[in-house]
Amino acid sequence: MNTLHDKEFGEIKITKVASSYIRIKVGEDRRVSISMPSLTPIFMARKFLEKSRPEIRRKINSMPKQTKKMSEAEKKALRKLARPWLQTRLRILARTHGFKYEKVRIMNARTRWGSCSSRGTVSLNIALMRIPETLRDYVILHELTHTRYMNHSKEFWAELAKYYPEYKEARKRMKKYSPQL
Ligand SMILES: [Zn+2]
Repeated sequence: MNTLHDKEFGEIKITKVASSYIRIKVGEDRRVSISMPSLTPIFMARKFLEKSRPEIRRKINSMPKQTKKMSEAEKKALRKLARPWLQTRLRILARTHGFKYEKVRIMNARTRWGSCSSRGTVSLNIALMRIPETLRDYVILHELTHTRYMNHSKEFWAELAKYYPEYKEARKRMKKYSPQL
C-alpha cells in the first residue's frame, strides 16, 4: 500500500485494485483515498488527483460539520500531540515572517480556534490538529497578524494576505470544521 501526501487533503491512501479505472473516494472522516489499477504508475494517480481537485473540494465542503464527540482519552492524546506541534509551527512561522509574541497557550475553547491578547499571548486550540495543515497555518498566521493589528480592519487583512494570500478561501473552508472537540 502506498500513500500520497497532498498539501490540501493530507495523507491519501492508495490501493491497487484489479480494475481498469482510477477512482477517488472521500470517506466520512473526510479522508481522500484512491484506488487504481495495479500496473498504473503512481504519477497517474497524482495527475488524476489534480484533475479531480475541484470535485473533491466540493464533496468535502458539502459534508456536514464534524459532530463526532471525542472521548476524554482521545482528547488527552490530542492535547499531547498538539502542544509540541503547534508551539513549533508558531515559532517557525513567527521567525519566518518576523513576528514577535510573548507566550503561547494551548487551549480548547468551544468557539474559537485561536486568539491573541494585547500582551502578545497567542492561544491555539488543540482542535487545530483535526483540520488540514494549510488551515492550521491560516489560523496561526491570523493570530500572529493580530500582534500587529488588534482588529479585523482592512489593514489587518492586507497584512495577513502578505503571508497567506489565499486567506479568503481558507476562511470559507474553516466554516466546515468545529473547534469543539
Ligand atoms: Zn482575528
